[in-house]
Amino acid sequence: MQRQEADVVIFGGGIAGLWLLARLLREGYSALLLEPRGLGGVQTLASQGIIHGGTKYALTGHLTDAAQAIAAMPGRWRAALAGGGELDLRGVRIRADHQFLWSTAGVASRLAGFFAGKAMRSRVTPVAEAQRPQALADPAFRGAVYRLDEPVLDVPSLTAELDRQTGGAALRIAFPDGVRIRAGERPRVALSGEAGVLEIDTHRLVLAAGAGNAALLEHLGRAMPKMQRRPLHMVMVRGTLPALYAHCLGASANPRLTVTSHGEGAAQVWWLGGDLAERGVARSGADQITAARQVLAELLPWLDLADAEWATLRVDRAEAAQPGGRRPDLPTVDEAEGVITVWPTKLAFAPLLADRVIEALQRAGIAPSGGRTPAPDWPAPPLARPPWEICRWN
Ligand SMILES: Cc1cc2nc3c(=O)[nH]c(=O)nc-3n(C[C@H](O)[C@H](O)[C@H](O)COP(=O)(O)OP(=O)(O)OC[C@H]3O[C@@H](n4cnc5c(N)ncnc54)[C@H](O)[C@@H]3O)c2cc1C
Repeated sequence: MQRQEADVVIFGGGIAGLWLLARLLREGYSALLLEPRGLGGVQTLASQGIIHGGTKYALTGHLTDAAQAIAAMPGRWRAALAGGGELDLRGVRIRADHQFLWSTAGVASRLAGFFAGKAMRSRVTPVAEAQRPQALADPAFRGAVYRLDEPVLDVPSLTAELDRQTGGAALRIAFPDGVRIRAGERPRVALSGEAGVLEIDTHRLVLAAGAGNAALLEHLGRAMPKMQRRPLHMVMVRGTLPALYAHCLGASANPRLTVTSHGEGAAQVWWLGGDLAERGVARSGADQITAARQVLAELLPWLDLADAEWATLRVDRAEAAQPGGRRPDLPTVDEAEGVITVWPTKLAFAPLLADRVIEALQRAGIAPSGGRTPAPDWPAPPLARPPWEICRWN
């Protein structure tokens, strides 16, 4: 049997767990991360990689405290991506430095007035015809295009880079059979598997397992905090497409369609979200593809999709339960009896989530014990792959 000490043990290797692990190690805490499947998580690798600064929310016209909190996120990510932030993410691929917002002809004039308003002027700038992205440069395009200074990341390269930097601190587990957890002021986690038995004594458990937090809380016999799932039915289309990172705005505050691109050169996979994914939850996969074809034919009729391949993915956003099941504005960090349960709500919020966990450790008087403990002799989880690499194309 092996024995190990770690200041913090994190469950879950999505963005919440990986970013926190990297931050803790940098701050001098010893930490281990436990993951039953692949690093990169479920929601994280399914995400569109947009580092939101809240413009999407400001479209409702209300600049709340939550909108201010997310407004700081692109700057923190950009500092890390440039190597001068709280983490050094120079190894992460930036897919797009900025995105576009476009509106269909019918709503263009209403939006022009809104975007010229004080709250929005610093966030979005009109794009001249000659500067439009290729997909919106067709002579038949009617509408307006704006530039939004929020970057889009290549999420597989983000999770691979965080794994590289935290190498050895992530351990593969078999949950629930290979894990015993004792919570309380001095928690202990016992792992069992092919490598034998490993007991880890720690000061805090952090549950960062996304939708898996529900099973972990149940395993610990805890009724709180409650979790909610907000489902999406995303669509992938693969073909000879120009790269596009853009939201199409319709009459409501939610984008009708959000497109991000995940291929190389002319061969792109477009990952389609927005209203299409929110409203398509009740549709079958085939019906959702039909709906996606219709929306693209309506919004970008000049695209040639004759040879395109299609696939869909159902994935839930897992978050702390909110009244009426609405979207939480901020990341959740809930502490009770030695267990910190977190949901970031957005990939973009990972830096703020890590701050709050570190503040909770400091409040509890848990100081960094001075760096990495030697990695135990235990198998590491593999890197998970993004949906477009493992889906079945139609
Ligand atoms: C389709 C989609 C698009 C999105 N687009 C964006 C976007 O563009 N920008 C943005 O900011 N946000 C976006 N989001 C939200 C964002 O992806 C999530 O908020 C974020 O990725 C959640 O990260 P996480 O680490 O909490 O969860 P996950 O990525 O789901 O990771 C949880 C991990 O925990 C592991 N796990 C499960 N059970 C256990 C267990 N018992 N023990 C240990 N580990 C366990 C899982 O295997 C997984 O690896 C999007 C979400 C979705 C679904």
